[in-house]
Amino acid sequence: MSATDPETRFAFALHHATADLKLGDPLSPPIVSTSVYHLPGDPAGPYQYGRWSNPTWDVLERALAALEDAETVVFPSGMATVAAIYYTQLKAGDRVLLPSDGYYVTRALADRFLAGFGVGVDTVATAALERAELAGYRLVWIETPSNPGLDLADIERVAARAHAAGALVVVDNTTMSPLGQRPLELGADVVVSSDTKSVGGHSDVLFGHVSSRNAVLMSQVRDWRKSAGAIPGAFEAWLVHRGLETLDVRFERMCASALVLAQRLAGHPQVRQLRYPGLPDHPAHALARRQMRRFGGLIALTLADAQVAEAFIQRCRFVRSATSFGGVHTSAERRARWGDQVAPGFIRLSVGCEPCEVLWRDFQAALDGL
Ligand code: PLP
Repeated sequence: MSATDPETRFAFALHHATADLKLGDPLSPPIVSTSVYHLPGDPAGPYQYGRWSNPTWDVLERALAALEDAETVVFPSGMATVAAIYYTQLKAGDRVLLPSDGYYVTRALADRFLAGFGVGVDTVATAALERAELAGYRLVWIETPSNPGLDLADIERVAARAHAAGALVVVDNTTMSPLGQRPLELGADVVVSSDTKSVGGHSDVLFGHVSSRNAVLMSQVRDWRKSAGAIPGAFEAWLVHRGLETLDVRFERMCASALVLAQRLAGHPQVRQLRYPGLPDHPAHALARRQMRRFGGLIALTLADAQVAEAFIQRCRFVRSATSFGGVHTSAERRARWGDQVAPGFIRLSVGCEPCEVLWRDFQAALDGL
């Protein structure tokens, strides 16, 4: 199996749990909800205590590892994956470079907690990362496309420069999923993902995973989960496993619809500005074509002001007003309500799995009526 063939990897991920079935075994993985395991005598075997290991986590980790082509550890949220990297890879005196325009809690966690432990925290805009000075950093963090502005960074070039400067490169691949972008194949050391978004895909679970081909780092991450106790529930792991099985068809539909909708929305007179990596007027469209396997399900859309933006969201019949993305239901929100540095009328639109033409008619009617 070629490391650069995500389709084959996805097929392996689908079949990983059913490869060695015995007569009468269930095809669906069991949900093992237990805090303890039968453990007489000296401790032995893979399952000893519920904070350390769980068979349902293992099934999901094997599926994600097949897809990522890298060892994988699962966590109860995307932020738990960010924390696992921060607290295992940084120590007093180290410096970390974070995106100034990426998911704001990634910065907040560093500012509020890491800084107090003596870690230096700097930020740079995603679009400027390629030219930023990287000397002196222990960790360089990339989020591409960035949430919510959908700016891009060249993972391959940043990773090469960061490695030359002695830094570890982490990519938050949440906005793309392992089927939309392959950071480890582009030279990143670690991938973190909020599987709350498209990997879980149904807006019914918070989850995350860390993947890397660096065995030492992964044993530190596993040890962190075991020691810090930020562990996922068995049912949540099962839900994400179930979601993962349809990721390819969901993500394909979302990305295909997002491209059509972005093209049409861009031409509507109510739309002041629109950014989508798949459109030729995106400032890094050439990089998007090189680096991304699909252009994603997120559209950054700016209307006249906050009121107009709210009215648009409320007028759409098939858009949920919610602060997340990547689910089967189309959703949207004004990001300025959380303090993101965007225009008051800026909307992050997450295209779901509804039929594209139905969505377009819905958007068009809502915009025409503003
Ligand atoms: N990374 C990115 C890019 C995100 O958008 C989010 C959440 O929106 C997270 C990480 C955190 O994920 P979670 O909400 O699952 O903790």
